[in-house]
Amino acid sequence: MSMTTEGHTTDPVVDLTRPAWMERAICAGHTELFFAPHAERPPARLRREAAARQVCMRCPVRVDCREHARINLEYGLWGGESEAERADAGYVVAAPIGGRIARAG
Ligand code: SF4
Repeated sequence: MSMTTEGHTTDPVVDLTRPAWMERAICAGHTELFFAPHAERPPARLRREAAARQVCMRCPVRVDCREHARINLEYGLWGGESEAERADAGYVVAAPIGGRIARAG
């Protein structure tokens, strides 16, 4: 399978280990918006995450996605929520990528 990051794949093969809500995700093919590239600078992160949130706000599975990321301590932006925002809600990953930065808005 050509899955690059859990939950964000363009592979048409059905993965029975994936939650059913992922089939309705509208972010397939846009992994670059939801996960930080190597050595991403804070301003670039803010721009990328703002663009990702625009997608999430239109997504029909946003609540399921956000809860999945919280429970599984995922990296990246899920359900309109960044790693920093999940950490603020008590869901802290072991090794945050990019550290804690100020958020827009
Ligand atoms: S809420 Fe955002 S990250 Fe989650 S499936 Fe939808 S578009 Fe993707």
